[in-house]
Amino acid sequence: MILRSLYEICFTYGIYTEFWLVIIRRQRKHGINQFMEIIFHGVRGSTPTAHQPFLQYGGNTTCTEIRLDQFQFLFDAGTGFQNVEILKDRQVYLFFSHFHYDHIQGLPFNGAIFDPSNSVIISSGLVNADDLKHVFTRAFQPMYFPIPLVETLKNLRFTEFNKVQSNLQSSSNTAIEPIKLNHPGGASGYIITENGKKVCCFLDHEFGGDNDVDANLLSVADGADLVIWDGMFLETELVSKKGWGHSSVEQGVSFAEKSCCKKIAIAHHAPNRTDEQLKELENNLPSDNMFFAAEKMKIIV
Ligand SMILES: [Zn+2]
Ligand SMILES: [Zn+2]
Repeated sequence: MILRSLYEICFTYGIYTEFWLVIIRRQRKHGINQFMEIIFHGVRGSTPTAHQPFLQYGGNTTCTEIRLDQFQFLFDAGTGFQNVEILKDRQVYLFFSHFHYDHIQGLPFNGAIFDPSNSVIISSGLVNADDLKHVFTRAFQPMYFPIPLVETLKNLRFTEFNKVQSNLQSSSNTAIEPIKLNHPGGASGYIITENGKKVCCFLDHEFGGDNDVDANLLSVADGADLVIWDGMFLETELVSKKGWGHSSVEQGVSFAEKSCCKKIAIAHHAPNRTDEQLKELENNLPSDNMFFAAEKMKIIV
């Protein structure tokens, strides 16, 4: 508890994150695990942006890593996936929320997946394993990509989501649950729990379009240590973007207050939102526990 309180103080003031990671990883080696590590590799929505005014928060599209006791969980493979260090000392899982380009286009650009000794289990709460394999077989064949990726890489193991869940249940304290999101074509959010910690990943979601879905999200986020929120738009922009499948920054603030989650990371930033604009919006958030995700940011919960 003392360790946790000290960490909370450091998090609030944005200091010593690297120091904490060393402490936590050392504890893990000794079988003590009180923390989850979340690393943002891509926080941009829709399309990557490589221009200077966008690089502080980062221009890569969506990819989030959660390092757990025995596993490395990756959520979506936008262009940020190219910068993920695929870990050799634990099983790697790659979960897809859905298959819009900004969530899949980075998959072939992390050289580590071409190493046959790196086994990556790919799964999704949205579709079954056959459909999942079909999506990627089609998306990365010579019409769109130089080689037939799925056929070439036997180390990518497309696996039914319920099989992943039962494997986790039988071998660890880690669990993952899918949750329906409101997004054109469908999308699955995820709730990850381990040793009493809970992280909710809600990308991509349009709040306000389906009351039952929203009520469910609010209910599961109650008391969550971290919610990752789709803040693509501002309230003023939502007027013309109904049905595009994204929420606003303001809805994120309201969601955090209503759900009583402990922290909320607003992500999936609009590709035309500059660092200066994001910084100004972030400075106006009402609490230190509400923040904008940035590329390479590491959070410990
Ligand atoms: Zn997206
Ligand atoms: Zn999408």
